[in-house]
Amino acid sequence: MSEFTMTVGGASVTAPATFGVVDPATGEVHAQAPDCSRQQLDQAMNAAAGAFKSWRRDEGARRKALHEAADLLMSRAAELAPVLTGEQGKPLQDATFEVIGAGIWLKYFADLELPREVIQDDDNAFVEVLRRPMGVVAAITPWNYPLVLASWKIGPALLAGNTMVLKPSPYTPLATLKMGELLREVFPPGVFNVISGGDALGSWMTGHDTPRKVSFTGSVATGKKVAAAAAPDLKRVTLELGGNDPAILLDDVDPATVAEKVFAGAFQNNGQVCSAIKRVYVPEALYGDVVDALAAKARSAKVGNGMDEGVEYGPINNRPQFERVSELVADALAGGARAAAGGKPIDGPGFFFEPTILADLSDGARIVDEEQFGPALPVISYRDLDDAVDRANGTHFGLSGSVWSADPERAAEVAGRLECGTAWVNTHLALSPQQPFGGFKWSGVGVENGPWGLYGFTEIQVMHRSKH
Ligand code: NAD
Repeated sequence: MSEFTMTVGGASVTAPATFGVVDPATGEVHAQAPDCSRQQLDQAMNAAAGAFKSWRRDEGARRKALHEAADLLMSRAAELAPVLTGEQGKPLQDATFEVIGAGIWLKYFADLELPREVIQDDDNAFVEVLRRPMGVVAAITPWNYPLVLASWKIGPALLAGNTMVLKPSPYTPLATLKMGELLREVFPPGVFNVISGGDALGSWMTGHDTPRKVSFTGSVATGKKVAAAAAPDLKRVTLELGGNDPAILLDDVDPATVAEKVFAGAFQNNGQVCSAIKRVYVPEALYGDVVDALAAKARSAKVGNGMDEGVEYGPINNRPQFERVSELVADALAGGARAAAGGKPIDGPGFFFEPTILADLSDGARIVDEEQFGPALPVISYRDLDDAVDRANGTHFGLSGSVWSADPERAAEVAGRLECGTAWVNTHLALSPQQPFGGFKWSGVGVENGPWGLYGFTEIQVMHRSKH
């Protein structure tokens, strides 16, 4: 039995089977989650399709419910945050910020205008461009920010008049299930359904007849499968996928100051952020100083169980990811890279890894070319800025990137040449509900957030009224 229940048609639902959820700080199963059956998926889809008919018609009720949902989540942060830390690993304070962040996102969408544009009003006709809901949205989320990334979908999808079936990652289903339980008192039955299960449940959702839209956040490899599964039914898709964000330092930066900020942009959530800095390009003359400053930061970082006071970085979320980071770091070291800080797993239970700064390596090393998604940062020296920009762009990824300089104008010119969805100047990971977020190339299709994110949950309808 699981103490966490699914939410289907507004009701609390258990499943015929459960699966174990591991606490990454201990490596032990610490809770069970319902393993949704195919029949229960059908029930959730039917509930969402049934609720759509009335939900789409009352915009005022939707705004009110989204505000209530936001208030409820924020007021229950103390209850949700430990559940999130227990399954994800992040420090309790970060988990609390995540819950509050989800509330902030829902509030933003609760107040966002649904545009009505008049494109013709003359003797012949009155013509408006309207945004209509699509129907049922299948929403699928990853394990790094289960709640906040769900809120990026819930807010705009429900505001636009759609209903939803949401599935969190099997590594982190619990806080999302709990959110579903809490929100039963806010949304009418069937509007917001939460189910849990393994990866197969995700593919059942994307292959299901009912949803008209799939909103997916996760890896590139799975994103491609989602796109392929959606194609035969021409389901609309938004894909928020992986990144391999470069940070390019220009030759006028102060190494100590910039290292502080670059470290924060690379190691937030223990490096498990789609748009974290994943490789740093540094001018040759500053290389040694920047590597030393980053390594000092890494050595002083407090790593531990996220439940403990004062911990800044928790474990890696799951064993496969822990093994992947270990493998990429070992591969770099075997290829001649130097661990200026860290370089190996931390002894003991749980999926802990030393915050690692890798020096004396370049493009071609796997940890530079691939997405590491963990607490290990390669630092690469460059001689020619144009070449550094080419190398930054020389990848299938295109999520975000940053350029750092004492001269913001100069940095902005270079940042404008990056092939990515967000180009930051002298910062990284600055995100907000009003800022559209998405990737070029393999990093995604479509965007989330801002009015542009809302449009992704709508179809355009032209209302043409003849005046004759
Ligand atoms: P993942 O692709 O393994 O899993 C994501 C979700 O997809 C999970 O819920 C999983 O159960 C489900 N899934 C797995 N196979 C499926 C299938 N065939 N059909 C449908 N759903 C399926 O990703 P992950 O390991 O959970 O997350 C890490 C990745 O997510 C990283 O690459 C990271 O960069 C990316 N990410 C991107 C963003 C963004 O906004 N661009 C944000 C966070 C994470």
